[in-house]
Amino acid sequence: KLENATLKAELGRTTWKFLHTMVARFPEKPTSDERKTLDTFFRLFGRLYPCGDCARHFRDLLAEYPPQTSSRNSAAGWLCFTHNMVNERLKKPVFDCTKIGDFYDCGCGDDKKGKDK
Ligand code: FAD
Repeated sequence: KLENATLKAELGRTTWKFLHTMVARFPEKPTSDERKTLDTFFRLFGRLYPCGDCARHFRDLLAEYPPQTSSRNSAAGWLCFTHNMVNERLKKPVFDCTKIGDFYDCGCGDDKKGKDK
């Protein structure tokens, strides 16, 4: 089947949105179990992402830059950096990771009052 660049880009945009929104809600002070879960998530993601070339490049990135899981900030910073590595390879503008702040809001409100807000 032919490659369809429009669909491939759409999948990329929606996936990045999900990934950045997910790490923006990662605990500020994760337990070792939560840290392991995030690390495992990205390793499985790298094996299952449906664009095979993208997944292979992402696995190479994981090997060189392992997921940072010690805090929400480090996880968000790591993902922003990783996305920028992909941007560079695709000749896209680099995102200023110091401006990530509240850019990714899940819209879920305070669904766990008093916990990790
Ligand atoms: P996207 O890169 O999709 O970004 C969407 C929006 O996120 C941007 O408009 C911007 O507002 C914001 N953003 C940009 N950079 C950052 C950042 N560093 N941190 C936080 N937010 C940011 N496509 C290929 O053709 N070849 C590949 O090998 C490839 N590998 C990929 C690997 C992964 C893991 C993923 C998820 C996608 C991959 N893609 C690949 C798709 C590609 O990265 C883009 O998603 C797609 O080309 C659409 O690009 P876009 O210009 O809409 O912006």
